[in-house]
Amino acid sequence: MNSQTKPTCNCQSKPEPHFPEQVTGMYILAKALKNVGIENVYGLVGIPITEAAYLIQGEGIRFVGFRHEQQAGMAAATEGFLTGKPGILMTVSSLGFLNGLTATANATVNCYPMIQISGASDTAMVDMNMGTYEQLDQFNTAKPLVKAAFRCTYAKDIPSAVYRAYRAAVSGRPGGVYIDMTTPALGEIMNREDADKLFYTPVDIYSPVAPNQASVDRAVEILTSAKHPAILLGKGAAYAKTDNKIKTLVEKYNIPYLPMSMAKGLLPDDGPLSALSCRSTIMEKADVVMVIGARLNWMLSFGKGKWNPEMKFIQLDVEPQEIDVNVPIAAPVVGDMNLSLDAILSALEGKKMSADAAWVTSLQEEAKVKNVKFAARISEAKDMMPMHHWTALGVIKPILESNPDVILVNEGANTLDDTRDAINMSLPRHRVDCATWAIMGMGMGSAIGAAVATGKSVVAIEGDSAFGFSGMDFSTICRFNLPVTVVIFNNGGIYNGIGEPLDKTTDPAPTTLDIRARYDKLGDAFGATTYYVQKPEELSEALKAAIASKKPTLIDVQLAADSGKESGHIGYLNPAPLQTIVV
Ligand code: ADP
Ligand code: MG
Repeated sequence: MNSQTKPTCNCQSKPEPHFPEQVTGMYILAKALKNVGIENVYGLVGIPITEAAYLIQGEGIRFVGFRHEQQAGMAAATEGFLTGKPGILMTVSSLGFLNGLTATANATVNCYPMIQISGASDTAMVDMNMGTYEQLDQFNTAKPLVKAAFRCTYAKDIPSAVYRAYRAAVSGRPGGVYIDMTTPALGEIMNREDADKLFYTPVDIYSPVAPNQASVDRAVEILTSAKHPAILLGKGAAYAKTDNKIKTLVEKYNIPYLPMSMAKGLLPDDGPLSALSCRSTIMEKADVVMVIGARLNWMLSFGKGKWNPEMKFIQLDVEPQEIDVNVPIAAPVVGDMNLSLDAILSALEGKKMSADAAWVTSLQEEAKVKNVKFAARISEAKDMMPMHHWTALGVIKPILESNPDVILVNEGANTLDDTRDAINMSLPRHRVDCATWAIMGMGMGSAIGAAVATGKSVVAIEGDSAFGFSGMDFSTICRFNLPVTVVIFNNGGIYNGIGEPLDKTTDPAPTTLDIRARYDKLGDAFGATTYYVQKPEELSEALKAAIASKKPTLIDVQLAADSGKESGHIGYLNPAPLQTIVV
């Protein structure tokens, strides 16, 4: 019927029926994440979060789908560390939740901001132990391992949970936060106009807290009266992006610095005031050490033992409970790192240091001697066939050092220790490794998180055992076509490939893996560029081509089975070997 023939109605006009547009909790979750500025979500879908992931992608947020939740979590944590914004991990209920929780717990321990959002069963059913689908009291399981936990039972609570989780993850000492996203909340239907009223923009979502002036003055007094001052840089200083302030402090006041592993590059490892190779001397001979964003934990002998017993520690940390943990701190400065450094720099203005002139020069002399020894170590390994760790690192070192903007991800035992020692970093936040817990199984996830969050090229140097924990997620690198090169040091085992079983078993020793494994063929399965290298020149060509290509690449480096020792540099932490007791 055309408009001309349309009958006119002379009946009284009725109001148009109003069918309000309806949305679900999943829509609210996607919008809340978008609203708070989230750009990437890492996860692995399944019941009950699959549709939520589609909606998240529909909001223009990148959804990076993994093969294992732990790796998705490592990616989220790495984004948190590198950007200061919480990385987001999405998991399914029960085992997916638990797999992801390992990474969230690791993030909490390392002070990386991240949020794990996990699908969860109906709480009413879990609480009554009805045996519902994937039943687990996830909220209470997560709680002891995170900074804060929220449970959404109703869709209306989702934006508030997301915003508060964000604030909790980044505020004070950063860490992992958990949101239990129950199936009823995800599936709840609301009118869109009611849902849209739930969103708001949180004010000052990261609100830095300034230290008190008396603590700053005390720190400055101690620092300026030191004869042998030094600065110890931790990954908290790297995280807080204090690069220029630390540079000013070090250069203007001529203070040598010693970086912890993930603080390497905050100032150049080979700079004139770098005391990287003089760690023992700093511990024994310094009289004042300013600890900036590091913890005096097992990695620093708890601030005792080797350390000068007269040492005065100044400690800058956002977490008041970090002060005096293992050793009394002479001058705690509690507050946001940037504000603390601002306050210290302005209090130092016009003041003179009392350091012995010979202090810095003696460290520089020592560094020179150590560098010669170090170069000898590399040249001694140069022609070893099959290659040893140091043969391969001698090749990799100049290539990575001439590509300083490549982010280095590194895990293993000997592969971790030797790579950390071998490769100088010159840019901040370009090294991500096993960190505080010294864990294995962060490699592929961290490489993916680093590449996605920064858009930069990544090289992951992996022990063969370490790679095994996350190897399947090499396929994620390929699916997302990320500029990541994975270098596997294959010495055929955990620590090395020469373990001998104690008993007359024909099974491999507990430490033995497979020296003949062709990891490059794993890369072939997913369409990566792959190399199997046995000689230094082959490794050199492969790595240069890989970095230049900016394409997923896997390089299997054949090492000797006897390259590497048990537990790498921390063998002393092993309990003493079994003794045969003769009665
Ligand atoms: P490392 O392993 O390099 O020694 P740690 O992870 O042990 O470093 O220590 C990092 C420290 O930095 C933690 O104690 C943490 O509270 C602190 N920190 C993290 N972010 C900030 C910040 N924005 N301001 C001040 N301190 C921070
Ligand atoms: Mg190995």
